[in-house]
Parts: sequence; structure tokens; C-alpha cells
Amino acid sequence: MAVLRFQALNQLPNLPIIDVKAPSEKVSDYFGENAFGLSKMKETLSPDVFQRVEHSIRKGKRIDEELANAIASAVKVWAISKGCTHYTHWFQPLTGASAEKHEAFFDITDKIEVFRGSALLQQEPDASSFPSGGIRSTFEARGYTAWDPSSPIFIIEKTLCIPTLFVSYIGEALDFKAPLLKAMEAIDNAATRVCQLFDRNVNKVVPSLGCEQEYFVIDRGLFNARPDLVMAGRTVFGHNPARGQQLDDHYFGSIPTRIYNFMRDFEIEAWKLGIPLSTRHNEVAPSQFEVASIFEDLNVATDHNQLIKDVMDKIARRHNLKVLFHEKPFAELNGNGKHNNWSLNTNTGVNLFQPTSSARDNLLFLIFFISTIKAVHDHDDLLRASVASAGNDLRLGINEAPPAIISVFIGTQLSAVLDELETNGNIEIEKGDNLYMKLGIDKVPEIILDNTDRNRTAPLAFTGNKFEFRAVGSDTNVAEPMMVLNTIVANQLSQFYKEVNKLMDNGEDRRLAIIEILRKYIKSSKKIRFEGDGYSESWLKEAKKRGLSNFTDTPRALDAYLTEGTKKLFAAHKILSENEIQARHETLLENYIKRVQIESRIIGDLALNHIIPTAIVYQNKLIENAKGLKELNLDNKAVIKSIEKISEHINNVRESTLQMIEERKRVNIIPDTRKKAIAYCDDVREKYTHRIRYSIDKLELFVDDEDWPLVKYRELLFLR
Ligand code: ADP
Ligand code: MG
Repeated sequence: MAVLRFQALNQLPNLPIIDVKAPSEKVSDYFGENAFGLSKMKETLSPDVFQRVEHSIRKGKRIDEELANAIASAVKVWAISKGCTHYTHWFQPLTGASAEKHEAFFDITDKIEVFRGSALLQQEPDASSFPSGGIRSTFEARGYTAWDPSSPIFIIEKTLCIPTLFVSYIGEALDFKAPLLKAMEAIDNAATRVCQLFDRNVNKVVPSLGCEQEYFVIDRGLFNARPDLVMAGRTVFGHNPARGQQLDDHYFGSIPTRIYNFMRDFEIEAWKLGIPLSTRHNEVAPSQFEVASIFEDLNVATDHNQLIKDVMDKIARRHNLKVLFHEKPFAELNGNGKHNNWSLNTNTGVNLFQPTSSARDNLLFLIFFISTIKAVHDHDDLLRASVASAGNDLRLGINEAPPAIISVFIGTQLSAVLDELETNGNIEIEKGDNLYMKLGIDKVPEIILDNTDRNRTAPLAFTGNKFEFRAVGSDTNVAEPMMVLNTIVANQLSQFYKEVNKLMDNGEDRRLAIIEILRKYIKSSKKIRFEGDGYSESWLKEAKKRGLSNFTDTPRALDAYLTEGTKKLFAAHKILSENEIQARHETLLENYIKRVQIESRIIGDLALNHIIPTAIVYQNKLIENAKGLKELNLDNKAVIKSIEKISEHINNVRESTLQMIEERKRVNIIPDTRKKAIAYCDDVREKYTHRIRYSIDKLELFVDDEDWPLVKYRELLFLR
């Protein structure tokens, strides 16, 4: 094993620097050249066909086979001109990764390239290999992928990729995308109706998403020499390097050449795909970086976030690098998160979360703003569940990421506005050069809104003109948290609309009715608002006092999917049926179990077959040394002490590992999935991984560096 480590280390200085050439100086020359979206359709389809497609997309209507044939033939010509030989339906099953099954365009009978409308519309992948939480019994293992025309088709490695939904034989959702599209429809319906109270021209509201994605980049050779990284995506052992992130010198520092070239390379690839990447910079931890894209329509942004991870992974190979998206690849260093910047935008070009200087618009702003807070208050547990994963459990709530307690930060100014609105008193706020927010309501003063008010510790923060959901894990498919967020806000807006109408039917003035309801919402959702330090010990206590939940592990967090409230919510907006919820819950639990199981197996394997034998060899050297010293009548107490210490750790590792393996055997036969997941959490992961790790990390400090089998943290993080 140490052989692998040193081979990888020796190769490092000789690795070639891969040159990267952009197709043109100007990004605009090639942006989107590998994507087939609306603008390409307009170029290649007849005006009549294009109009029909555009209409279907806008209205979310089915595309019939005749129309599909016309599109398919244009897509085929384009794809073949770009050298494509295959096409695939690209979808997002509940496993987390994206999936594909490639088909050739070439038809062997007719000896020509064919691509029919039917092949564009629908495919039947071998669905039995994807998790379905029991929705499909094995005799009916059919699932279909169905084209999502609202997301652009694209080309990766000479393969035409068609974004699709993955559904069962009878149309039940087996993926992340199908419910997301339904949630988008729900919020469109609810938000449009509310907007129409103010402006009849609004007939569509679309959610936008901009993701900030964190990741680590390490040398591929070093990565390959760490079986835990290869198998579980994270290091299960590794002593902290002498220098970690305490210097904070990596943040916004200069980017090393090899990594810089890799970044340029994937940026170019992403731009070709029409992914609007904007910023790149170093993150807090060594070798950690962030990439952000400019916000887009939610479903497209979701596909693009999945795609960018695929692209980064592929491009990294070219540069002998490996990208780590796991939420916690290295203990004691910051993990990887993904900030989800979310807003709602009307067809008339208004961002509903943008306060303005117009009193009328601000009332609309307040409806959306306060309704979102209220929605989060009422469904905080579900929102927490939507970001639950075995990886994210290791990140949330450990002083680098938001806690597992959901709360909303809105800043001093808006807090003052809400307080004022609630009590209807008077407050003085100084004027400045900033934006004024006039409420136009009696006794509510003008407010200066400044968005420099930042609190990085809140799971959900209002940042000027958008909400930022920060508890999302970097490896998480953003569709799930976004599906939940949009559904709960849609629900709240529907509620609001009903209440306003009721008051107005009773003769109340529209504006007063709105204020009355908002005041009620502010009062009843107060406990979810928190402006202080979310990482602090005192917040834990305070949150408990407020009655906020704090689910620190996935199996328990996922319970929120099964409550009556959740079932009603999803049913009311036709997002997920009870059957689909059950299946989803089951699948997410199974995913958790598998991940913790793999992690535990790799711990056992490394501990018994790599670490203990190495430690024993070293211990024997010390024993020889102690004997030698004694023969010469020299003091060997220090050596004996070391031998004793090493023995202690070896024994702990051996005993704990064997116990963990026994425990796994017991847990594996628990029939109930939830109970099994909880047992994996409490009795395997919580109980043993730290205990084993503790001794192994100590042994790393004892054993001769020449013999240590695992690539060390300082090598992984500081060499490239
Ligand atoms: P930071 O949070 O690091 O200060 P920015 O404020 O620049 O970063 O924005 C981060 C992300 O928010 C980007 O992806 C950006 O496109 C996105 N964003 C900005 N405005 C909106 C909006 N109105 N709706 C959704 N996302 C937005
Ligand atoms: Mg941010």
C-alpha cells in the first residue's frame, strides 16, 4: 500500500501541464454551440413548427408525434453535423447521479442514420436497475423516460443528450425532475393569481435559481491511492495537517496552474453547453473552490447544475485531477455546500422579491416575502428533510455550515419593517444613498434597504432580492429542495389568496385586507426568524426553547415526508401522491443505508488489512529496538512507552472494527427500512467511526512515514 502512495507522490512533479485553448477569444462566439434550445429551434425549424413548439413549452402542453418528428429531424441534422453517432435520454433518478443509455443513430437494416420523433419523446431504459422504493414490482419493472422540452438538448462527447423525466408505467415519479416541474406549475398558478390582484398583465411566474457550488480538487494519482476516497468519496481517516485552514490564506488566493487550466477547460466546455458560469474563486479550505452560474429558470438551472458536475468530472480526468463533491471529504476542514439563490419572476419582468421605491409594488413584495417566511415556518421540517443525506449529515451544524435547525435571516432593515408592520408603531430610520422602500401604508415609514447586511450562518437568508438556501449539500440534486421550497410557498400563496378574497367579499378594503393577513403571518411565523450567529451554542438552546426542530441525522429528518401535513400539501398541489411519497421516503432511506454501509465496510477493510498490519510491523521494529537498548544496558523506557501506546491503539482499532462488523451483520437483517437506517446511523456510524478513526489518526503520528499506507492530508491538500 505504501508503494501506491509513493508511486503517486513520485509522479506528481512529472505530470504534464495540459494546455487549454478556447475556440475563440470571445465567449459569445461559442456560448451554447453544443446546446439545442429555443434559439436553435428557431433557426432550424419552419416558423409554423417553431411556433407550435414554443407554445407547447410555454403552456407545458404535450408535444404530439407529428410535431416531434419535425423537431427530431432538425435535431438529427444538427447532431450529425457535430459528429454525433449516438443519442441518449438523460435523466435524474433518485440515486443522485444522472443516468443515460446510449442508442446509435445508425439503422443497420436501412443503412442510414435515423432519429424518429417517437425516440425523442419516449424511451424505455432498463428501469429495474434504478431504485423505485417499491413502486414497480419486479414483474412490472417498466419505467419510461419522457422528453422535457423546456430544457435544452445538448451534446457531450459526440452523444446527443435529451433531458427527460423518469416515470413508472403508470406515470408515477421515479426521479427528481418530474415533481420539480409540477412544483413549478403550482407556484406559477398560485403566484400569478396573487400578482393579478395588482396587475392583470401578469400571466406567468417562473422561479429562478442560481447555484454556488463548492468542491475540492486533488491530484488523481493521490486520489487513486486512497481507497476510501475512491469508494466512499471521502477520507475516513487522516490526521489533521500541521497547517489546515487556520491561516485562511487560500480564500481568494491565486489559483495553482494545474487547477487553473482545469477550470478554464471546464468553463469552456460549460459555456459551449450554454451553462452561464460566472465566477470562480478559492474557498476557505486548502484545495477547495467554488463555481457559480448566473441564475436561470429553475428547471434549466437544475439540469445545468447536474450537468456541470458531470462535465467537471470528465474534464478533470484530462488534467490528472479529481473533483470531490462529497459534503465532507476531509474531517476538520470545511465541507462542500451549495448555495441555492432563488427568486420569483413574472412574465412582465418583475422580480417579486425585489423591493422598490413604488409603494404599490412594495405591498406585492411584502406578500411574497412574508409568505415565504411563513411557508418556511410551517414546513421547516420538510425543508430540512429535502437536504438530508449521509454526506450532508457530516456537514450541517458543525461550525462551517448552517445548523440542521431551519431558520430565516432577513437583516436588520427588513426585520424593522416587519416589526413595524406587526405593531403598527413608528420607527425612525435614517435616509442614505441607498434604495428606499416606501410601504405607502399609514404610519409605516420609508425604509432604506441595503443588502450588505450579510449573515453567512443562516440556512435561509434573504439577500437583497432573493432567498438563499444554504443548507443544501454540494452533491445533492437541487431539484428536491427546490421542489419543496416552491411547493410550500405555492401553498402559502394559495392560502393568502383565499384569505384576501374572503375579507374582500366581506367588504374590506383590499389593501387593508392584505395588511391584516400579513400582520397575522408575521406574528405566527416569528419563531423561524433569527438574526444572530447560527453556529453558536446559544442558538442551539434558544432554538430549542422556541420549539424548533433540530434533526441531525437523515433517517429521522426524512420522517417529515410522511406526516399528514406533508401528504396533504403534496396532494393539494398534485406534486406527489401518497404512494409516490412512500416510495421516495423508502428510496432515500435505502440510499442512506447503502452509503453508510459502504463507508463502514471501507473503514473495516482499511483498518484490518492496511492499518493494523502496518502498525504491527512498526511496533516490531520498536520491540527490536527496546531489546537492543536493554542488551546494551541503556534506558528503553521511552520506547516501551511508545510500544504500549501503539498496542493500545491497535487493540482499540481491532476490537472496535470487529464489533462494528458484528453490529453490521445484526443491522443488515432488520426488515424495516427506517429502523435499519436508524440502526446504521446510531449503532454503526455514530458509535464506531469516530472511535476507530481516533486510534488510527493517532497511529498515523507514531508509524514511520515511510511505511504509512494512506496518502496523508498534507499530501492530498497541498501538493499538486
Ligand atoms: P454571493 O452570495 O457570493 O455574494 P452573488 O450575490 O453574486 O454571490 O450571487 C450569487 C448567485 O445568486 C449567482 O448565482 C447569481 O446568479 C444568483 N442570483 C443573483 N440574483 C438572483 C435572483 N434574482 N434570483 C436568483 N438568483 C440570483
Ligand atoms: Mg452565497
